[in-house]
Amino acid sequence: MSNLEVEPQEIVCEADSGALSGVEILEPRLVPLGGPRAMPVRRTLPQRGRSLIGAWCFADHYGPDDVAATGGMDVPPHPHTGLQTVSWLFAGEIEHRDSTGAHAIVRPGELNLMTAGRGIQHSEVSMPDTSTLHGVQLWTALPESARNGEPFFERFVPEVFDHEGARVSVFLGSLLGRSSKASAFTPIVGAQFDLPVETRIEIPVETSFEHGLLVDSGTAFLDGALVPVGSIGYRAPGVERIEISAGSEPVRTVLIGGEPFPEAIVMWWNFVGRSHDEIVASRSRWMSEVIDGSDPAGLFGEVTGYDGSALRAPELPLGRLRPRGQPGV
Ligand code: MN
Repeated sequence: MSNLEVEPQEIVCEADSGALSGVEILEPRLVPLGGPRAMPVRRTLPQRGRSLIGAWCFADHYGPDDVAATGGMDVPPHPHTGLQTVSWLFAGEIEHRDSTGAHAIVRPGELNLMTAGRGIQHSEVSMPDTSTLHGVQLWTALPESARNGEPFFERFVPEVFDHEGARVSVFLGSLLGRSSKASAFTPIVGAQFDLPVETRIEIPVETSFEHGLLVDSGTAFLDGALVPVGSIGYRAPGVERIEISAGSEPVRTVLIGGEPFPEAIVMWWNFVGRSHDEIVASRSRWMSEVIDGSDPAGLFGEVTGYDGSALRAPELPLGRLRPRGQPGV
């Protein structure tokens, strides 16, 4: 998925003392995504006050979306640098094509992970027989040691297992003794938890990790705090376990977490870099090599099989993009 905002704004991470204890609620904002009628998504990361949770730097939640009404998803080829895209569906199917040659159908419960490294491009289109689209699109920021590597694509189908009555899939990192085979470049976790009504589970976690619980549906509580549907409940590092509980409705949630990302990043449109000048250079190469066609197989490679033109980058905002996140914070 792409950040398709016409005028993406820079968001500056500010210290939040409220995160030192208890649960902080991160509310989503509605953003129109690509597609015939601009399918809306709920974006919880990044936002003012909190840019990252571990290496997770972007979280879009969408659906259940009636494709007959919204036209579904149609995101033309667009670039990424310095990040991984994590596609995780609850319903529907999306056709993925990227410039490594990967052509995949993203299905519910199956991780599709694209590591952009120094540069990649991809397209995402909902399948013609998909009537309902429902899922999340997450990004992780790659650390300095991995962000200039070759791009690659992976698919991993985690085993669904029971934990205290909940159904669990660990799609990235490790949790509850299960590990994803997908590539991770920082200490991180991503997992889906489905709870029946009136269920309470405890999850031992890494004390060095911060966590966010994205609630997809139902009445969900994180450590006793109600987390509204579409919001993320955030817990700072320093706890040995977290508790998820379901009220009078069954609950579906996605837990993301990791060690606080130790590098300040500059994030704009579909690029994650380290400086304003680097973002400007990435945008410039996308526009000249791909949009203007000076080197179609250059930094971002070529996507084949998509019926349509690649996406133009928006104009950069006035002024310099500032880094967000702080080393060691
Ligand atoms: Mn994308």
